Amino acid sequence: MSEIEIVAFKCKKCGRVHYPYHDRCLDCKSRDFEEIAPKGDAKLLAYTQIFNLPWGFDERFLIIGVAEFENNVKAMGQIKADTIDQLKTGMKLKAGWEPIRVVAGEKVYGLKYEL
Ligand SMILES: [Zn+2]
Repeated sequence: MSEIEIVAFKCKKCGRVHYPYHDRCLDCKSRDFEEIAPKGDAKLLAYTQIFNLPWGFDERFLIIGVAEFENNVKAMGQIKADTIDQLKTGMKLKAGWEPIRVVAGEKVYGLKYEL
């Protein structure tokens, strides 16, 4: 499994984690950030199912969700589930960095969550 190539930004003043990057901390307006990577398991916060996928996906539909890692990084990713009925907010997911689609013959990697 590949390393998760996500860089999140932790405010050095108040500790709030931003992903993606914000110019200023959303809480304290500081511009001083430390770069951190997501760590540990992720807790599912929200999820949805999308149809009408962009070009490059073979699937008929995708389930995507936002999950929060143990060090407070929140990130959206694809969820490996057959149906949305298997999911529940608050459940633990394993995160991986895997090919999610093919564009011009190249694999594009992204975040995938596994039950
Ligand atoms: Zn802050």
